[in-house]
Amino acid sequence: MTNKTGIVYLIGAGPGDPGLLTIKAKECIETADVVVYDYLASPFLLDYAGSDAQIIYVGKKGGDHTLSQDKINLLLVDKAKEGLDVARLKGGDPFVFGRGGEEAQMLLSHGVPYEVIPGVTSAIAAPAYAGIPVTHRDHTSFVSFITGHEDPTKKDTSMQWDVYAKSNATLVFLMGVKNLKNIVKNLIAHGKESNTPIALVRWGTTAKQQTVTGTLETIVERVKLAKLTSPAIIIIGHVVSLRDELAWFDKRPLFGKRIVITRARAQASNLVSMLARLGAHCIEIPSIRIVPPQDLDSLKKSIEDISKYDWLVFTSVNGVKFFFDTLFDMGRDVRVLGHLKFACIGPVTKERLRDFGITSDILPQTYRAESVIDAFSMVEIKDKKVLLPRAKKARTILPEELTKMGARVDEVTAYETRLDVEGKEELISLLESNEIDAVTFTSSSTVSNFMSMLESKDTKKLLKNVVTASIGPITSDTARSLDIEPAIEAKEYTIQGLVDSLIAYYESEK
Ligand code: SAH
Repeated sequence: MTNKTGIVYLIGAGPGDPGLLTIKAKECIETADVVVYDYLASPFLLDYAGSDAQIIYVGKKGGDHTLSQDKINLLLVDKAKEGLDVARLKGGDPFVFGRGGEEAQMLLSHGVPYEVIPGVTSAIAAPAYAGIPVTHRDHTSFVSFITGHEDPTKKDTSMQWDVYAKSNATLVFLMGVKNLKNIVKNLIAHGKESNTPIALVRWGTTAKQQTVTGTLETIVERVKLAKLTSPAIIIIGHVVSLRDELAWFDKRPLFGKRIVITRARAQASNLVSMLARLGAHCIEIPSIRIVPPQDLDSLKKSIEDISKYDWLVFTSVNGVKFFFDTLFDMGRDVRVLGHLKFACIGPVTKERLRDFGITSDILPQTYRAESVIDAFSMVEIKDKKVLLPRAKKARTILPEELTKMGARVDEVTAYETRLDVEGKEELISLLESNEIDAVTFTSSSTVSNFMSMLESKDTKKLLKNVVTASIGPITSDTARSLDIEPAIEAKEYTIQGLVDSLIAYYESEK
């Protein structure tokens, strides 16, 4: 127990898009002892928390309060009094309808020091992501943020309907979905034209963003039809009409598509960030895990004997990683490879090798074992000793063909792929409830392991409305052998190629 009181940081966590967190907020989450968050703060932000930080969910979804405001307050005070620094994450900005002011006053009254880190408020960001600037010189000279939560039967209301109705301000209502009918009714009753444009933006700035537009007259019906519920921002005023011209976020090629990534988690980030940038909602359900081989002896032996080899051939980024990990673990470094020539399959493998200061001598035109063979036919390979560190149970075509060309090939296992079933329940439940648009397969083992996760289920039925996307012909063949006909096959057998093919597919669907 320490005498020092911790600091409570009241942090604006932004509206949902994790990229809209401020740098200062990120630094605070990284160093906090306790992170307290509610349902509006994106769970991605918790990844920044230190591994031994306490993470506490305090809920608060309109009505369903996991912890009451009083209990939240007590919690903040208690933790600070224990000497812990607390990051209190609040959706959007803490001082814009976030009760941040009350929390600060309460901390003050308990003698707990606090700091406020403003955030990007949903009141501006949700409209912005819907292509609606809250001010525009041609349309309005001011903007109001208004609570839409106030009980319409309340006697001494602070709502100034006549002011809102008569001004040309952009009106932005928060917490107003349930009260939409009343808001519209009051504005019209106080003289606002019934053809004034209005929009609702739900889960703004996230892949789930949904926008409904209309006029004061039509909106209630449209919102009902679209089944739009909270949390949403309501924007009223002529700026709303600019959306027709300025919409951008939901126009991105993969907007709203829910895409499953089956790659091993350690390798998925590149694909995930490429798809997310195009608007997709990525669901990571790795079907494989990459692990070091059970028996490292043959890899170690080949490294001990490295001076006897002429060529080192890598067929994957993992092969490069595990080869060098083992080399370094053995207390050696790249200087023992100076006499070798190198070949890589695929530009990404080549790049990974480059990270170790080595340029590949051969890069095949396309990225299949067959093209490596074409590339080798240009160089003198007869009687040369070739080391091929790669996955256990890899295809045999490459060593066979190199042997036919007169090379003496040693294959060693550098890593193994294992079935990862952690996400199995989630996968089945998402498929059963039709919440998946597409599944990506980046290797044969992702397909076969994916299928074994679905085991006893009726896979044809589960995958009926799902677009399957394969990285290339070999992966597609494996899929076919398991009775899945890929709807998409990448033209270029790379992650970029796979992404391009997904874009082309959805483009042609429009
Ligand atoms: N402090 C927050 C607002 C909290 S009040 C901020 O600055 O954004 C809660 C209301 O915020 C919700 O009812 C909804 O109207 C709005 N809201 C928060 N996040 C939102 C989002 N991503 N999209 C649309 N509305 C959102």
